[in-house]
Amino acid sequence: MAKAVVTNSSRKAQAEPLPVEFANTLSAARGCTVEGLGSPADLEAWLWRHRDLFPDPGPLREETALRASEQQLSHACVLRDAVRRLIAARVDRKAPHPWDIAHVNRASGMSQAWPVLVWQGTRAPGADSLCTADAVTHALSLIARSLVVLLAGEQGALLRSCRAPGCVLFFYRHHPRRAWCSSGCGNRARVARHQARHCADNRK
Ligand SMILES: [Zn+2]
Repeated sequence: MAKAVVTNSSRKAQAEPLPVEFANTLSAARGCTVEGLGSPADLEAWLWRHRDLFPDPGPLREETALRASEQQLSHACVLRDAVRRLIAARVDRKAPHPWDIAHVNRASGMSQAWPVLVWQGTRAPGADSLCTADAVTHALSLIARSLVVLLAGEQGALLRSCRAPGCVLFFYRHHPRRAWCSSGCGNRARVARHQARHCADNRK
């Protein structure tokens, strides 16, 4: 497959769980792999766009705090690829690679956060959060933890990979009848099935 670096566009209204959205930063279009994390700016923009999916937005509350380095981009892509392989192993009921598990577990422990009390004068008290790492590292750590919870829980059984021709995305089966990552993929799969039947009939 050729590799094209373009920004991932939003493909559907309903968001997948956080680790699935992260896995889907690698997609495909017209036979080419589409890298959604092509630059540190792509990573920053992706994290900011998906901040509502994080269990504890904490350090992600301010866009200005999200500054990714090239090294963090590499780390994000390596983590993303490990997440993809682990989700695929869960979907296909195959044995995972120990390296991928080790990588996710290491990322999970890279940052710790805790709540702090913010209370000035006679104003109502509020809560903020502090963490041991910068916002980007913390966000990647939260993604790894979300994957651990998803794969180890009952919801892991509802993960699917899209079987539409050429699609490499994963999705969470929110609804029993959901068979594709998007309605566009459902339509393409129906067209492909129709064409295959048409060719088979012509050969008879
Ligand atoms: Zn699809």
